Amino acid sequence: MTDAGVTDRAGPLRRARAEAEADIRELTAAMESLRRTRESSSDDDEHDPEGPTLSSEWSRIRGLLTAAESRLGDADAAWARVENGSYGTCLRCGSAIPPGRLEVRPTAAFCVACASVH
Ligand SMILES: [Zn+2]
Repeated sequence: MTDAGVTDRAGPLRRARAEAEADIRELTAAMESLRRTRESSSDDDEHDPEGPTLSSEWSRIRGLLTAAESRLGDADAAWARVENGSYGTCLRCGSAIPPGRLEVRPTAAFCVACASVH
């Protein structure tokens, strides 16, 4: 019976994890197609007006991908806490993390007070 409660509470976390995974898939595909565009236009480096645009686009996507991967890592870590029963409990002081905070930040590992000190 407590299981159902934990599963419900973990709903936003499940969504956050699914979103991070979807983002990673999309961004990986975007990098792949950008890489192909780059390769096909590399014959014409000096006169390629898209050159600088492509590399800034590349670093933008790379940054988003890194962020999405770290979100997925946070979600996995939070998911491990769901499984061992410590989800929703502050890792630092052990007090309960308010449900409202978990709604907004499903991967939160600290209560508001500890997160601001952390
Ligand atoms: Zn705390």
